[in-house]
Amino acid sequence: MSENQSNFWKKTPLDRMSRRQWESLCDGCAKCCLQKLEDEETREIFFTNIVCDLLDTDTCRCTDYANRSVRVPTCVTLSLSDLKDPYWLPETCAYRLLAENKNLPQWHPLVSGDPDSVEAAGHSIRGRTVPEAEADDWEHHLIDWI
Ligand code: SF4
Ligand code: SF4
Repeated sequence: MSENQSNFWKKTPLDRMSRRQWESLCDGCAKCCLQKLEDEETREIFFTNIVCDLLDTDTCRCTDYANRSVRVPTCVTLSLSDLKDPYWLPETCAYRLLAENKNLPQWHPLVSGDPDSVEAAGHSIRGRTVPEAEADDWEHHLIDWI
């Protein structure tokens, strides 16, 4: 039985998942690779369409995943402790959903069995971003489709 057939994410707590299971939770949306602003008083997060320079915007994959935290110090390598208060992650992020005891959406590849279902459902950033070098004031790049 494959991992997704067994619905492991419904039965296995985040802190009991294997590395492979943990990694497979990522739906590849790349929303977490967008720059964002935070209201320090309310902790409200405002996402922009400005994308990290290391992201390959065609594949929505990091071009230097192994060295991402060195190359981009603000890039968070998600751990269990980050998920104790995951307000800063996109609301659709699978790690946040599970940390908040919610279900994965139907378009999540583990549920749909189709990696293209993320983009088909409008949850991929592919084709919707601007590089940092082309961005002016971040407040001019706020988005509401996260
Ligand atoms: S927002 Fe979550 S699910 Fe989407 S790419 Fe980032 S870590 Fe993966
Ligand atoms: S370093 Fe890679 S994983 Fe981190 S935000 Fe940039 S593109 Fe995304």
